[in-house]
Amino acid sequence: MELSPVCTEGLSTDGCIIKSDRAQRKSKVPRDVEVDIEFLYKAVPQLAKVFRIVDKIGEGTFSSVYLGEAQMRDGRKERFALKHLIPTSHPTRIAAELQCLTVAGGKENVMGASYCFRKEDHVVIVMPYMEHQAIVDIISSLTFEEVRLYIYHLLKSLKHIHQFGIIHRDIKPNNFLYNRNSKMYALVDFGLAQGTADTQIELLKVDLTRLSKVPRPVFGEKNLNSCLPASSSTKQAAIMTELVKPIKTEDPASRRYSSAIRGPLAVRSQTQKPQRTLQQGLTCNCYLTDRVCNICLSRKQQVAARAGTPGFRAPEVLTKCPNQGTAIDVWSAGVILLSLLSGRYPFFKASDDLIALTQIMTIRGSRETVQAAKSFGKAVVCSKDLPRQDLRTLCETLRGRRPSPGDEVTPLNGASKDAAHHPKTPDDTPTHRPTEGTLKQHESGVGQTLPNHPEHSGSKDASPLLDKQTSEVESSERGWDRVPDEAYNLLDRLMDLNPTTRITAAQALQHPLFKDL
Ligand code: ADP
Ligand code: MG
Ligand code: ZN
Repeated sequence: MELSPVCTEGLSTDGCIIKSDRAQRKSKVPRDVEVDIEFLYKAVPQLAKVFRIVDKIGEGTFSSVYLGEAQMRDGRKERFALKHLIPTSHPTRIAAELQCLTVAGGKENVMGASYCFRKEDHVVIVMPYMEHQAIVDIISSLTFEEVRLYIYHLLKSLKHIHQFGIIHRDIKPNNFLYNRNSKMYALVDFGLAQGTADTQIELLKVDLTRLSKVPRPVFGEKNLNSCLPASSSTKQAAIMTELVKPIKTEDPASRRYSSAIRGPLAVRSQTQKPQRTLQQGLTCNCYLTDRVCNICLSRKQQVAARAGTPGFRAPEVLTKCPNQGTAIDVWSAGVILLSLLSGRYPFFKASDDLIALTQIMTIRGSRETVQAAKSFGKAVVCSKDLPRQDLRTLCETLRGRRPSPGDEVTPLNGASKDAAHHPKTPDDTPTHRPTEGTLKQHESGVGQTLPNHPEHSGSKDASPLLDKQTSEVESSERGWDRVPDEAYNLLDRLMDLNPTTRITAAQALQHPLFKDL
């Protein structure tokens, strides 16, 4: 792939957009996007020599992604995704993201990088553009076969990056691009990736935990940035890292942690001595009760990588287990499978880690979760016994293929399929339809109210009048009437609470569910 040094179409040779192009763009994109595009051209002027930036396709906390067109030497126009990283991203972090894309990417359903541009602290990673659909938009119409293939290809990308010793840490549908028509798949976003002990990605050998996408102080920014081209060597990176003082990460989630811990659930490291605080010599007797005393609240928090999105985080991440491996990505793949099999996205939506852990318990069982946590050195206390659920029953109920327990009046039907939902525990007498995205709170507070998801507001649900028979015919056409046991068995293995026994991506590809692939 070769780019002409100067793109002539719609661009003047000095890199400014010619008037006709501006006018053209104006009619297509909203004013704010237009402003952002102008800003990007100014921030990284070299871009204008190669690309016509036509739209913004993604905006997150740590980056904005644009669609750019380039005129190739052979006359073709090619589309690229231009990821503009927030200028406060740590240089080592950026270089590591780029290295994951260039070393592991470009094959096995993993996105590659084509170019990287930088001016001062603005970095733009250029990737081949892949058209894709958002899972939330298509989940209600996916066939079982599409779901099976989706998970297979996701696992394939995970096997590949795990072979390189890359832990992605943010596996979720938004980071796994899916083109339903062309059956293309691509894992993106290595912005939170970390290395295993034996990682082959040099820059992931640097301890990135404290650098993770956290805005760094402005001091020293200039000299740090001066050594970040795409080719930044490990040595440079290592030195740069030493230059930057570890940032005291005031993680809002950990601040909430201390107040949430008074609730029904408490997590403690078993290695922390619960009986005594060293400084004060005071005796604490809250150990293995469902409350946490002030002495314990004043303890230093255990530091462990806690990146990612709460609803997709593995139990060992949620409990801040210090030894986290590639198994955390496999758990997230399991949550995605659960979501696709039940037709609910997102499946878990939690504002903090303890709520996320409680939601896991409602599906996988509280005793099982406590037991698993114990195996990796964490004492979890849950004031309510939540039974483990049968996965087929759960998914079929949520799909409306079975009446939901205790809810004879309004069984789930196709009308609520793509609505936000949280499963009920069997002893729960529902006061709301699942479409309302709520789960009745236990008096203990376990099973928090689950928020409605604004991203669903555009979907055409909310028609409880939809004929049940029609929906059954539709869903049998999509294969949901004959989901094999293997699917639920794989789900059970992916969502193994214990990371040491959890199936690996490589093993999962050999699972009977995929025997024909
Ligand atoms: P962030 O770190 O901000 O989440 P991502 O790398 O996940 O950034 O990109 C954000 C979004 O941009 C993705 O969810 C996807 O919709 C879009 N995107 C990213 N890379 C590409 C690509 N190569 N082709 C098409 N769209 C992309
Ligand atoms: Mg992302
Ligand atoms: Zn205590």
